[in-house]
Amino acid sequence: MEKTRAVYTISEAAAVRAGQSTHGDVVVDVDPALLSADQREELLRCWGTPRHLTPNAMVYGTLKALPELDASTPPEEAVVLLLDARLALREAQTVKQAKEAAEKEAEREAGIQAILDAGVDAIVERAQRRASTERVYVGQASAFWQELPGYAQELNANDQRLVILRAEYQQRVADENARRKAEALAHAEQIEAKRTAAEERKAAQISAWIKEFGTESQKKRLSVDLLPESEVLDGMRGQAFAPLEAFAPLAKEWARYEKLVPKDFCECDYEKSRDISYETTPATEATEDTFDYLEQIKELMPAATVTIEDHTGTCSTCEQSATRQAFRVEVVVGEFTFSRLYDARAFQA
Ligand SMILES: [Zn+2]
Repeated sequence: MEKTRAVYTISEAAAVRAGQSTHGDVVVDVDPALLSADQREELLRCWGTPRHLTPNAMVYGTLKALPELDASTPPEEAVVLLLDARLALREAQTVKQAKEAAEKEAEREAGIQAILDAGVDAIVERAQRRASTERVYVGQASAFWQELPGYAQELNANDQRLVILRAEYQQRVADENARRKAEALAHAEQIEAKRTAAEERKAAQISAWIKEFGTESQKKRLSVDLLPESEVLDGMRGQAFAPLEAFAPLAKEWARYEKLVPKDFCECDYEKSRDISYETTPATEATEDTFDYLEQIKELMPAATVTIEDHTGTCSTCEQSATRQAFRVEVVVGEFTFSRLYDARAFQA
């Protein structure tokens, strides 16, 4: 059986260094049985027939790593040395490649990891921010929101109650305002009606009086609405007090009460600097005569109200005063009230 043939080269330089003259290719017949499995695999990888163990094997990147053989090494041994050297180179190459690949992979992994880390960091940061924000909200409102449903219901009920109460209040105010306005209007109308009615009654009274007691001139002037009311009232007043005219004391002209004047009581030298005041009060006392006349006036004018008044004038500067008594006779005639004052002194004379 033919052995596998291999070839290796002894360089000139190696031959010279070894002190030999032989160099060039050495052809060896290799017994595979003497080789390990790795060595056999390596042998099969060698190029050509026979298999070149020391080719310009660029596949390993360098030839220098191979042992420099010379003729002193037995060819069978040289083959094993070369195969082992190639295996070692291959392994070194593999390790280097693996290392490089591992480094690359590590670098790639690191890049990926960096990207991942950055992403994760961002995600984590975002999550933390969100969580922080949520924590703030949750922290602020947890108690409130936990009871929200019931609270909202109550709040809503309160709101509705407030709306109703406000509407009721506004209605009440509006009603009250309307009531007051209507009341004021009714009151004004009532007063106006009363006034109108009184005016009408007065006009009717005057008209009737003129018709019965008025002169022709008065009748004519009344018909064209030119009769002064005061003129009519004077006539009516004279008529009302006529019963007293027959009463001798009051028939006197001076019996009519005349108001007190300063010269009746004041003794001051300088009128401008004096301080005068007047006062009218119901009489606190009356003489027998005065009271007797009061009774007689009442008998003469039963419809009248007769009172005695004290009219007092005072000067606080000279500290002088005077009091004069008067009969006030008041009589109501229809819509009019007539009043006269009589000097009580008239009855003393
Ligand atoms: Zn005086």
